[in-house]
Amino acid sequence: MALPATERLLVRAAKVLTLDERHPVIADGAVLVEGASIAAVGAYPEMRRAAPEAREIGGSAHWLLPGFVNAHYHNWRTFSMGAAPDAPLEQFLLRTSGFEIPAALDAEFQYLNTLVSAIQLVRAGVACTLDMTLTTDHRSMLRAYADLGLDVIYAPTTRTQLGYVYAPDAEFVATLPSALRARIDGQGLALTASYVDPDRYEREWLDLKAEFGGAVQFALAPDGPEWCTETELRRWRAVAERESACLHLHNSESPMELQWALKTRGQTMTEYLGAIGVLGPMVSCGHGVWYSQHDIELLAAAGVTTVHCPSSNLRLSNGIAPVADYAAGGMKVAIGTDGQGFSDTSDYLEELRLADLLQRTPGPATRTLAPRTLLEMATVNGARAFGRERTGTLAAGSAANLVLLDAERMTRPYAWPGHDPHAVVVQRARAEHVDAVISRGRVLMERGQVLTVDATDAERRLRDLYQSIWRSQSSQRQALIDALEPHVMGFYESWVDLPTTPRYGYNRL
Ligand SMILES: [Zn+2]
Repeated sequence: MALPATERLLVRAAKVLTLDERHPVIADGAVLVEGASIAAVGAYPEMRRAAPEAREIGGSAHWLLPGFVNAHYHNWRTFSMGAAPDAPLEQFLLRTSGFEIPAALDAEFQYLNTLVSAIQLVRAGVACTLDMTLTTDHRSMLRAYADLGLDVIYAPTTRTQLGYVYAPDAEFVATLPSALRARIDGQGLALTASYVDPDRYEREWLDLKAEFGGAVQFALAPDGPEWCTETELRRWRAVAERESACLHLHNSESPMELQWALKTRGQTMTEYLGAIGVLGPMVSCGHGVWYSQHDIELLAAAGVTTVHCPSSNLRLSNGIAPVADYAAGGMKVAIGTDGQGFSDTSDYLEELRLADLLQRTPGPATRTLAPRTLLEMATVNGARAFGRERTGTLAAGSAANLVLLDAERMTRPYAWPGHDPHAVVVQRARAEHVDAVISRGRVLMERGQVLTVDATDAERRLRDLYQSIWRSQSSQRQALIDALEPHVMGFYESWVDLPTTPRYGYNRL
């Protein structure tokens, strides 16, 4: 819910980093918020005079920026410590399938997990997030976002194949020892359990949009090129077009995914997506670690955004995406925390800092990203990836998504006044410096306290719920996953020698 039209909010800061071309940094500035939008941006004294009745937050010890856009995220795996330990992507996906939520606890779990995860995002300055969700209890998750008040781009995912490894399920299962095969039979194990019939997916997506579309933006989200058939990928692109919706998917996250595309299509994943007509300006891809030079050109020409998830790429052993090269090649790049950030806290500010540092190649000709460019990736680019032209800058008419930092604490004990403030934010801002977050005009957090929900109570309830879920886990299921793991990893053994590195030499790990 936005502010009542009659109540206006004046957000004051010693520096307003607008990320707007016309006035990049305003000293002793302010932003006037009316309803869900920014009414005006300018020097504080004038703005105060123009809106004498407006409630004021912030002050001369604060800096103000557009709220961050988390452009690739899954609330589900945020608590990876509760589901599966770090491992290469394909092993991690198998391990997460060992985690089962009893049906009776599902609605409460989905609500609380979404809420507590989203609170973590807000605490690090996120004012808008994509959520690519796997489970089908969408209403509980949407209720969590509504209660917190966070601007969400909601993207239910769909997948229908390759649940164990990057080969047809029946083909892989046939290679298993007969005793193991008998144990799997009929269990719907691994990610086969999350398959959704395409007709049902489309029906549910349309129902959700009809019910919640007034308040929430919906995106189509085929999970990735390998997990949907070609017919389905073409279909979701057509539905997105028909519904004027965006399409978001994983692309070229792991080296094994690239190998799958080369082996089965004779093309990279991106070439495949291009050849079947999926690419376009309303399309965004999570990760994009394993692109070829040709992929970069294709994505730049098609106007596709790649969402960089540096911590996740490291944690799941996928490598380092050279996004400075992508940006230099004309590709749009945004930032996301994926399902598990650097410290299991979905801390967007840590993600940003890591995104910056990982681009620095050794030597005097080092590759870097300008701090302002990085902040644009975190705001404007994330918004535009989802067709939002009026989110991500501080300008009159933009969505009132803002983050207010306690600059006095952020710059303790001192900061050289000559520093570019964009660089100071990238290098020094931590979640503990986030004072206020405003999402579509609603103040979600102020003076470091979440205002819209009881965060402490939600965290306690989620912790208690996890205790019950852990107690209910079936050791049989876990034993089966443990037995399957060597076969799943063995499947890829012959793949690692394919000529990935010489031909796709962008990844230096
Ligand atoms: Zn992801």
